[in-house]
Amino acid sequence: MDFRLSDDLQQFQAAAREFAQRELGPRVEEAERTERTPLDLFKAAGEAGFLGIRYPEELGGSGASCLAEVILREEMGAVCSGLAAALSVSSHLGTYPIHAFGTEEQKKTYLVPVLKGEKVSAFGLTEPNAGSDVRGIQTKAVARDGGWVLNGTKTFITNAPIADYVIVVAYTDPTAGIEGMALFVVETSAPGVGINRIKKMGNLSSEIAEVVLQDVFVADEACLGGDRGAFKRVMTTLNIGRVVVSGGALGVARAALDSAVEYAKDRTAFGNAIGSYQGVAFPLARSHAQIDSARLAVYRAATLFDEGHNPVQETSVAKYLAGEAAIDVTDRAMRVFGGYGYMREYPIERHYRDARYFAIVEGTQEIHLRVISRQLGLG
Ligand SMILES: Cc1cc2nc3c(=O)[nH]c(=O)nc-3n(C[C@H](O)[C@H](O)[C@H](O)COP(=O)(O)OP(=O)(O)OC[C@H]3O[C@@H](n4cnc5c(N)ncnc54)[C@H](O)[C@@H]3O)c2cc1C
Repeated sequence: MDFRLSDDLQQFQAAAREFAQRELGPRVEEAERTERTPLDLFKAAGEAGFLGIRYPEELGGSGASCLAEVILREEMGAVCSGLAAALSVSSHLGTYPIHAFGTEEQKKTYLVPVLKGEKVSAFGLTEPNAGSDVRGIQTKAVARDGGWVLNGTKTFITNAPIADYVIVVAYTDPTAGIEGMALFVVETSAPGVGINRIKKMGNLSSEIAEVVLQDVFVADEACLGGDRGAFKRVMTTLNIGRVVVSGGALGVARAALDSAVEYAKDRTAFGNAIGSYQGVAFPLARSHAQIDSARLAVYRAATLFDEGHNPVQETSVAKYLAGEAAIDVTDRAMRVFGGYGYMREYPIERHYRDARYFAIVEGTQEIHLRVISRQLGLG
């Protein structure tokens, strides 16, 4: 593996950074305060070609690599984790199953407008009684008159309050175990769909909700990739998503470290810049090393996807290291700011809250340790 980004990727990184600072930056304050994702951001990202960059150009993507995607996620995450999450979910979780398993008609109807930023997508897997254990979901789809009737509740669904549709995972045949699952595109305006917003601690500019499905009818055409066998399709979607989300974690960690280094050089105590004391400098040096190693693991996993592999262990290592880096680095950075680290005035307080997100989403850290343990023949 080449340890330097190619010239093309370096140029892409510079463009992504410029876009994130220009388009996410000015929207952060209001979006975080109002806890609303501005819809015009999706339009701006679509116009700039920064939505769903991995999809083919004929559908509105850029045919870019997974490595480019994680680079983009890091740049967006460094500016605002919440806005980055909203864009990321619409770019991947809410669209990848359509790209990978959908018909040409489904791609035209759903994928193309999302990539233009005219529509917003969401992905509904988690339920009040089942998150890590996907097999435990209870949402059911029953065949009826040229379509399906869905009943169930999804929770913590990113973008649900602003989404045009949610890709819902449901059992079509619970007696068949995980083989009896299917994916459905459910439009949020359909009769019987209820959206109940949920308050959370961080990523405030990304909206999440409970999605209640009460006798929701969808036509046969809403089923993605067949009415059985979706467990594998879900796992494929999540596995790439884990690398994508790791990019966001690197961005939050990097932003926290950069601001702490700057502060440590400026702030004086006992007659010297606080950064001259090893008690302050070493935790920041550890943070740098932690981000560096996590980034290499993330790049490796992304590169393996780009080479056509489906790297499960490497993906878990990447998500675990990037998630821990976000949590540890924001914690250390916050301490460097002293009392100011606790105040809303400085972005470090937001980074600290936002970082906790990465312990939970796209597989909790424990679930990734479980994957790694199993590869070691343990657990
Ligand atoms: C901000 C946010 C946005 C989200 N967005 C989405 C979304 O868009 N779509 C979606 O479908 N979901 C979404 N989620 C849900 C998220 O994916 C789940 O919360 C996550 O998978 C964990 O599931 P759970 O909350 O049910 O916890 P549980 O699965 O109940 O886990 C509880 C605890 O038990 C641990 N645990 C469980 N099983 C094991 C085991 N075998 N070994 C060791 N430890 C274990 C977990 O690590 C965790 O610490 C979001 C969550 C958050 C916080």
